[in-house]
Amino acid sequence: CYILAVETSCDETSAAVIKNGNVVLSNVIASQIETHKAFGGVVPEVASRKHVESITLILEEAIQQAGIPPEKLSAIAVTEGPGLVGALLVGIMAAKSLAFALDKPLIGTHHIAGHIYANQLTNEILYPCMALVVSGGHTELVLMEKEGSFKLIGRTRDDAVGEAYDKVARALGFPYPGGPYVDKLACESEEVETLPRAWLEPGSYDFSFSGLKSAVLNTVNQHRMRGENEFHPAIARGFQESVIEVLVEKAVRAIGETSAVQLLLCGGVAANRGLRAALSERCQKEEIPLLIPPLVYCTDNAAMIGAAAYLKWKNGEFSDLALKAEPSLSLEEWSVAT
Ligand code: ATP
Ligand code: MG
Ligand code: FE
Repeated sequence: CYILAVETSCDETSAAVIKNGNVVLSNVIASQIETHKAFGGVVPEVASRKHVESITLILEEAIQQAGIPPEKLSAIAVTEGPGLVGALLVGIMAAKSLAFALDKPLIGTHHIAGHIYANQLTNEILYPCMALVVSGGHTELVLMEKEGSFKLIGRTRDDAVGEAYDKVARALGFPYPGGPYVDKLACESEEVETLPRAWLEPGSYDFSFSGLKSAVLNTVNQHRMRGENEFHPAIARGFQESVIEVLVEKAVRAIGETSAVQLLLCGGVAANRGLRAALSERCQKEEIPLLIPPLVYCTDNAAMIGAAAYLKWKNGEFSDLALKAEPSLSLEEWSVAT
């Protein structure tokens, strides 16, 4: 089975060819980061236009690098949501045109299912398992009792962790997206500013990062009012420690309180050095098998979309050419039919 996958949900235009759900034959990514940097964040209108500019070339490159003649493709997969509606539409239009022209089935795919199944590109997923999704727009604990079945047991009540990173980064003077800068500064810092942790009610698997974000912004202002300017590393480290402690603690507890036999880390923030190290160490201590995708499969890419689409392909679940962009598509509802 050869799936050509397309991803345009935010600011990466990407196409990939995936064999049997886990072999990456190509994975071409055009990032728009340089374009959006000037605006301090993703501008939806600009993102759509950029996707239109690059999609044809990216598709051609993905097919060419894979070395598979288009008629041999088994299906065309595309992110249908969640994401920016105008950005999603560009990928959906391209995928529909290809599916129609080549007479191949179309598979509308969930972006977060993609982030989770990025793990399948380098490891075997065992069930039941728990996914800790940490990305620009999502922070969730997802229980998967079997392949392609998604149950949300926890989610953020306000900011996503990646969003909090980007806002903190901006307050510290870093360009968009600032997550990696905060990560680097935190890992290098010797000092640590103590910041609050949001545990919420006992037993809850939900998250909250807006209080921590506000605490960072207040602390930054206090330092500035005192005329100090050497506070950035300590704040970056304090922020990162608070985020990591809550994420690790809740994920490990979720494993203990369910039948999950594996923990899967995924999403753009899974690229965070501090989080990868802390979670690895804790899981080793608790003897929890942990999967973390390599960095290229953590942030947005089409290979992960191909991996998730394979679940639907195996089950014979296809989309028709009326497929629409779904900016807030539900992960649970996208589960494979039983
Ligand atoms: P979603 O997947 O929820 O729709 P998205 O696709 O925009 O959102 P991703 O591409 O998965 O998000 O991740 C991007 C986010 O990851 C950004 O917020 C970015 O700052 C963050 N990020 C990337 N690398 C790191 C890092 N090393 N440390 C912290 N955050 C990081
Ligand atoms: Mg992105
Ligand atoms: Fe993403």
